[in-house]
Amino acid sequence: MTTMTFAELGLMKPLCRALADEGYTHPTPIQDKAIPTLMQGGDLLGIAQTGTGKTAAFALPALQWLAEAEGAPTPKSASVLVLTPTRELAIQIAESFQTYGRHLKISCVTIFGGVNQNPQVNKMRRGCDVLVATPGRLLDLMQQGHIRLGGVETFVLDEADRMLDMGFIHDVKRIITKLPAERQTVMFSATMPDEVSKLAASILKKHQRVEVTPPATTVERIEQKILFVNKGDKMELLYDLLTEKDVTRAIVFARTKHGANKIAQQLDKYGVTSDAIHGNKSQAARQRALKGFRDGKIMALIATDIAARGIDIDDISHIINYDLPNEPESYVHRIGRTARAGADGKALSFCCSEELAYLRDIEKTTRTTIAIDSTHKFHAEPIAEQHASGDIPKPPKQGRGQRPQGKVSRRPQRKSRGGGGGKPHRGRSSAPQQRAS
Ligand code: AMP
Repeated sequence: MTTMTFAELGLMKPLCRALADEGYTHPTPIQDKAIPTLMQGGDLLGIAQTGTGKTAAFALPALQWLAEAEGAPTPKSASVLVLTPTRELAIQIAESFQTYGRHLKISCVTIFGGVNQNPQVNKMRRGCDVLVATPGRLLDLMQQGHIRLGGVETFVLDEADRMLDMGFIHDVKRIITKLPAERQTVMFSATMPDEVSKLAASILKKHQRVEVTPPATTVERIEQKILFVNKGDKMELLYDLLTEKDVTRAIVFARTKHGANKIAQQLDKYGVTSDAIHGNKSQAARQRALKGFRDGKIMALIATDIAARGIDIDDISHIINYDLPNEPESYVHRIGRTARAGADGKALSFCCSEELAYLRDIEKTTRTTIAIDSTHKFHAEPIAEQHASGDIPKPPKQGRGQRPQGKVSRRPQRKSRGGGGGKPHRGRSSAPQQRAS
């Protein structure tokens, strides 16, 4: 947290009041750095993970601008567009806009796939202030003529690296081509792979770069441990851990959807309350699992990487990597689910002999040596010795290489916003009718 207050950053009273209602006393570092730039109308590249307070960093200036702007939203369009990779994130971001904007009159619509499109289409008819959308459904509704992006003045691209990971980057680029050239662009990414850097260069104009955690470095407050274990003992070890008294709420990560289901079924047999959350589950089932977890009805959420992205639940005491991820960035994202907003957390990772190479990559990328917990009854000393010897075979190639990669088309040079870097022209003020209140 920083020493400035939200009021000192220039945020209006209704916003400060909403933040006080939430118990936020001071801005987080990303908020401290990003809010003044965004209130000036400047572009921004934020290198930050979830858990840093980045949602409020872009939502607060957008809300302030909307509250001060005149005119009604353009029909079938929105003044602020936030693109985010998952439905869960879209819902959470929209909730944040509603929470922070609760003392203002702001309309917010959320759009994502996997559900009937009609309610979304109806809500967009008159246009809205803030549209939070996942790329696939947004593009679909745009192609059907239900949404136009001509009214967008602030565009937020959230979790750009995940968009790439999940194969959405082409949809994102197609959406960007439909945005007005003159706009404010805000982009967030936890890491900056080449393709994301190129995208940033093509869509941001004279932007400020804000980095709150160096890419792929693990959050310091999280106590991390490696537990060497034979593959066949992982389930028993998990049960032992989940029944320890300091584990109050845990996310268990599995590599595959099938694996996640199997773990949940097994825990059920052992009498541990859990639910699996992954891409094959319906939206309703995912929301049910998240609600049960949030309400404390289930103590373990078994998740795959993509499904867990953006889960914003406080007081997660433990992250357990049942399977180690093959990409170090995923490890960083996973453990970032705990220790949110100032709390401490623990991340325990199981490592069998086949996963030693993943462990080595994680330690190399995060520039840390993760402490070994050899006190559990399934500790496999031969795996620990192999790890210490450094004689580790290369793992089979997975992941990134198989993703569709495309050429980045550089957008044509944008028109100058004029005013030498001052507040950009906000088209809303030219809208003829008064905003309905
Ligand atoms: P985010 O990185 O946007 O997902 O936010 C992570 C968590 O931090 C959320 O639970 C927010 O409610 C919380 N949060 C955001 N800003 C602050 C703040 N200034 N003070 C305390 N908590 C915050």
